Amino acid sequence: TREWHFMHRPVGLPAPETFELVERDLPALRPGQCLVKNLVLSVDPYMRPRMDDVPSYVPPFELGEALTGGAVGEVIETRSDDVPLGSWLVHQAGWREHAVVDAKAARIVDKGRYPSSYYLGVLGGPGFAAFVGLFHVAGFRPGESVFVSGAAGAVGSMVGQFASLAGAERVVGSAGSAEKVQHLVDQLGYDAAFNYKTGPVLTQLQGAFPQGLDVYFDNVGADHLAAAIEVLNDYGRVAMCGTISAYNAVEHRAVPVDAIKVVAKRLRLQGFIAFDHEDLRTDFDAQVGAWLDSGRLKNPETITQGIESVPAAFTGMLTGANTGKAIIRLAED
Ligand code: NDP
Repeated sequence: TREWHFMHRPVGLPAPETFELVERDLPALRPGQCLVKNLVLSVDPYMRPRMDDVPSYVPPFELGEALTGGAVGEVIETRSDDVPLGSWLVHQAGWREHAVVDAKAARIVDKGRYPSSYYLGVLGGPGFAAFVGLFHVAGFRPGESVFVSGAAGAVGSMVGQFASLAGAERVVGSAGSAEKVQHLVDQLGYDAAFNYKTGPVLTQLQGAFPQGLDVYFDNVGADHLAAAIEVLNDYGRVAMCGTISAYNAVEHRAVPVDAIKVVAKRLRLQGFIAFDHEDLRTDFDAQVGAWLDSGRLKNPETITQGIESVPAAFTGMLTGANTGKAIIRLAED
């Protein structure tokens, strides 16, 4: 079987020498373990900061080791009483064709109810981050206005749709191309959208919210965050989900936040990590499952094929090649 190893710490964007596809034999299963054939793999922004040797909320990737990440696999051998042969597991041993997985570290999902890739998107980490950030961290209430950056990505596509479905007064997104801007309005029900590459974020944001803004869901940081602070209404909230504008930066440049405005407007800015909020999982499954089954919630995806394509799909995602969730498909469901 084949798996991707991490060979060099990149400076800026990852390059071909960052990765190596390695053949290996699989170890025998120990009690409590399963062998899975991976059907779909996820590439996510957080994997890029893990390639730097700096402490964070997850440890850095080790050089010479297999990379890891979210995946859905079908069980082809099992030594766990809890996991029947043929079931689907969501687990963290991605970047490889087959994986030996501890049943306790994986989650069984309803095989065939949805496509396997949904468990990496709308029903997986991105959907959960959108749900936690919008409803719990930002405390969104019906009738409020919402701005989402990275709006056409995996998390952003969900934030905008969740806000509309939950009764937002106005939802606006920013994204990096004219096609994505069109997609947000035509496909995902955004009231308006703008391309952050074609003009200053601040003026575009002011134009989009003449009545002011209540909630900002921040996937980007930098000029997006600074602009939102200008435009937010009194008692506005910011759910700080990620800072993708900084992940490939060669030098880290912190963007000043205008503290006077934060105080005067009584703003609340809160960072969060979705997996700290497992207590919200039941609410998430019920609400998002119901929206999905009603046909009103879409799960856009950009799918690339085959284990060889993982590094390119990863770098592509970091530079905006994806609309919706970036998925690599290794085998049919
Ligand atoms: P996306 O699917 O949104 O993919 C990344 C996107 O970022 C690209 O498609 C690109 O779109 C955009 N992008 C790249 N560079 C820049 C830049 N300099 N400025 C603005 N946009 C840029 O990824 P996810 O939805 O998975 O993740 C979105 C954010 O959410 C990330 O910051 C991630 O770290 C964070 N996250 C946080 C979690 C948490 O628990 N806190 C959990 C999951 C994700 P474009 O074409 O529009 O530029």
